[in-house]
Amino acid sequence: MWFVNMRKKLLLGNWKMNKLASEAKQFAVASSSLVEKAKLHNIDLGVAPTYLSLSIVKENANKDMIVAAQNVHFNSSGAFTGEISIPMLKEFGINWALIGHSERRTYDNETNEKCHAKITALIANDMVPVYCVGETLSQFEANRTKEIVERQVREGLKDLTSALVKNLVVAYEPVWSIGTGKNASTEIAEEVCKFIRDTLKDMFGDVADEIRILYGGSVKPENIRAYLSCPNVDGALVGGASLKIDSYEALLDNIM
Ligand code: PEP
Repeated sequence: MWFVNMRKKLLLGNWKMNKLASEAKQFAVASSSLVEKAKLHNIDLGVAPTYLSLSIVKENANKDMIVAAQNVHFNSSGAFTGEISIPMLKEFGINWALIGHSERRTYDNETNEKCHAKITALIANDMVPVYCVGETLSQFEANRTKEIVERQVREGLKDLTSALVKNLVVAYEPVWSIGTGKNASTEIAEEVCKFIRDTLKDMFGDVADEIRILYGGSVKPENIRAYLSCPNVDGALVGGASLKIDSYEALLDNIM
């Protein structure tokens, strides 16, 4: 039987702790025509700026540019110094958030349990979580990739239903390939993304075929096409190569 992949491709740039608001604004303005180009090819484009640049990017980017937060708190208000809540994001029209990025798991004690609370709160507020999962180098070398990723998926998404996870995005990012220039092969990317889809199928049934799974980790204009031609890779979460408009445009051009 022919399988027609109906999932729309997604290119999402994670800016991490980079760019002043003025620089973010410049990028947003310059990216407008790229969003139009992407639309013609049925591709979603987005960026995840720092909290301080979210509103300036939202105001200055093409209205179809996805603007995502890099994190969020699961409570809607209260005594949580330094945190930002879902209603605060929504007030600025921000409807997407990265959850469980490996840098947050490493430096900010972001556990699967915390990710679960954040994902549940986002979905309850009609927002789109981009749930990041992936193994460390020592786990990869010990052949534990699937065990680790399965636990992250099952614990992060427990108690949700198929109706609730429809808009979820999952990003497979092997920690050893983030910002290191060491790429996972396309075979590894496809094998793990397929494994994630099979796990989602086991948890939620056929809706798993609608959930977008991204690959992330040293994705560059030169290698993005190979990753996106894997049947279970529906897009890319890109750090370094998403920071400059030329390189972001080259990423887009190379998947069209
Ligand atoms: C990331 O930050 O999610 C990422 C994949 O970074 P890079 O593309 O720089 O490896």
